[in-house]
Amino acid sequence: MDAPPGLSFTPAVGDHAFTAKQRSLLALAHELGRDRFAARAAQWDEEASFPFPNYEDLRSAGFLKLCVPEGEGGLGADYATYMMVAAEIGRFCGATALTYNMHICSTMWTGVLADGIPMTETQRAEHAQRRRLHFRRVVRDGAIYAQPFSEGSAAAAGRAPFGTTARKVDGGWLVNGRKIFASLSGAADYYGVLCTEDKGDEKPDARDTLYLAVPATSAGFAISGDWNPLGMRGTVSRNLSFQDVFVSDDEQLMPRGVYFKGAQTWPAMFFTLAPTYLGLANAAYDFTVRYLRGEVPGEPPVKRRMYPTKQIAVAQMRIQLEQMRSIFLRSVLEARPNPSKDERMRLYAAQYTVMEGANDIARLAIRTCGGQSMMKHLPLERLYRDSRCGSLMLPWTAELVLDRMGREALYEAGEKDE
Ligand SMILES: Cc1cc2nc3c(=O)[nH]c(=O)nc-3n(C[C@H](O)[C@H](O)[C@H](O)COP(=O)(O)OP(=O)(O)OC[C@H]3O[C@@H](n4cnc5c(N)ncnc54)[C@H](O)[C@@H]3O)c2cc1C
Repeated sequence: MDAPPGLSFTPAVGDHAFTAKQRSLLALAHELGRDRFAARAAQWDEEASFPFPNYEDLRSAGFLKLCVPEGEGGLGADYATYMMVAAEIGRFCGATALTYNMHICSTMWTGVLADGIPMTETQRAEHAQRRRLHFRRVVRDGAIYAQPFSEGSAAAAGRAPFGTTARKVDGGWLVNGRKIFASLSGAADYYGVLCTEDKGDEKPDARDTLYLAVPATSAGFAISGDWNPLGMRGTVSRNLSFQDVFVSDDEQLMPRGVYFKGAQTWPAMFFTLAPTYLGLANAAYDFTVRYLRGEVPGEPPVKRRMYPTKQIAVAQMRIQLEQMRSIFLRSVLEARPNPSKDERMRLYAAQYTVMEGANDIARLAIRTCGGQSMMKHLPLERLYRDSRCGSLMLPWTAELVLDRMGREALYEAGEKDE
């Protein structure tokens, strides 16, 4: 099999001059996915249950501390390396990759991304001290962090302040409010909540967004609601409520006011949901090639590859996969604070291309593999359902990406019509 030097497989992000560290992490992710996660994926989907055994494997492999800096006991992976590893996991279990993203972002945003966000010296010192606590929990205790932002309002789209509030009290904060779609609900040890500082004003302001870790054991914290969705069923993304939940000052994942600046400085922080879906697209493509060659284990060795229409469908899938990999990898490698307008537009285009493309490839896969391929004992119908969810993820849903790109293409900053 053709593969980049030093690897026995082509990673989900495609071939590239990977560093030695990237190669070894990719090989480990591929092995975990292929040997452990792939066979279990049907169970989480069937039961809509959380993949706890996969998290035990991630923990043992050191992957929960992937983005914790080496100086703090972690593996010190940078943004690009995380994005490559996440796509490889997504290739074998979408729900594991998507929830893993929520956990990793809690360490990456406070770690390598926060290093690129402007802060005063006092804020920088405060942040260095507080994040050490969170890193230690992940490194020493194997703690899992969730990332519940969504509220069912315009807030997660970045168009309004969060309705969940935090009021300053002695030694900490009192959190009140509600979140929806909290992946890892019931599985996380800490919930990294975005909320608005309640300053007693009439008008809440998004600039006062706080990023706080709420321990799962907090009094006044509760999980509710059913979870029976179309796809990504293993994410177990239920509702959270906070009623006068006290969290100490040390639970601040970023200093006051810094999250808002971060979101403006580092747009690529919102691109981290995409690798899961690039992984799913690879899985649909890989399956199709094996199926048409009559090589799917447990299936009759019927070849279908000789039909020109099937060859054309695979060609279309490969073209789309190559396009996704190219724009994905370029955007990941050039991600930085304060990107140029071209880089930002490319990032939006990459998000759209991957999120819509994953479902396109899964759709073509089912069409060309045919009726027998969509049975529940095969992964294709799950990939089809899981891949539909990518475009729904705020703040960069497919619709909002189109909205941003159209506006930013036609209006320069500050321009208005009469
Ligand atoms: C499997 C899964 C896991 C998830 N996990 C998490 C998680 O861990 N944490 C988390 O915070 N969220 C999570 N989400 C939630 C997700 O990010 C979105 O918040 C959610 O899908 C939005 O659903 P909604 O019905 O509230 O959509 P709405 O907000 O009503 O949006 C519907 C559509 O309208 C458009 N729209 C929304 N606002 C605007 C606007 N201001 N201007 C123009 N168009 C707009 C968007 O295109 C959007 O797709 C998850 C979602 C899924 C499907």
